[in-house]
Amino acid sequence: MTSNRTGMRIILMGPPGAGKGTQAKVIANHFGIPAISTGDIFRANVAGKTELGVEAQRYMDAGEYVPDEITNAMVRDRLAQPDAEPGFLLDGYPRTLAQVEELDGMLADGHPVNAVVVLTADSEELIARLLQRAQIEGRADDTEEVIRRRQEVYTEQTAPLIEVYAGRGLVVEIDGMGEIDAVTHRIFDALESQAG
Ligand code: ADP
Repeated sequence: MTSNRTGMRIILMGPPGAGKGTQAKVIANHFGIPAISTGDIFRANVAGKTELGVEAQRYMDAGEYVPDEITNAMVRDRLAQPDAEPGFLLDGYPRTLAQVEELDGMLADGHPVNAVVVLTADSEELIARLLQRAQIEGRADDTEEVIRRRQEVYTEQTAPLIEVYAGRGLVVEIDGMGEIDAVTHRIFDALESQAG
């Protein structure tokens, strides 16, 4: 990885409630790249009652992943937008091995991912955070039952991706517990030393 501030391609991973969305915006701002959140794009489509939103909603409400073909096509379109040309941060994608393969194909232009930042947090803390957020934001998938299902799906389908990216020497693991600013500092420190 180069320490060049342009051309960054970053993946942000971590279980539901780890603070991906919050950190995604700060990191992306810092590098001048768009933060692309598949969850946000799906929610915008649900709110706009688009065909994609109608299709995705039943999976989201149950805490299940939206099928790979739907998600992959959406990300392919998004990455083709001009603002993603100088780089991007992916928040919430890839989440399955099939999505990793698909993304590899999308990035087969000789400019691969620079880093995979994995936020970690204690699972009971995660559930507590999401239940608290539910009271503020009222997200349909922030009920305790669905939150637990989302954690399970992450453990089963997404956690194995960490090994895959670790094998490529890309993983930067960050403790996501504590103050938001402290976590942000840990991420920047780790990215700097990885760039070193
Ligand atoms: P969380 O932090 O709970 O994972 P997100 O906002 O990132 O929340 O995602 C919300 C929902 O959107 C997920 O539970 C899933 O249904 C759907 N989703 C988001 N990203 C993906 C993806 N890469 N593959 C499949 N489904 C996804």
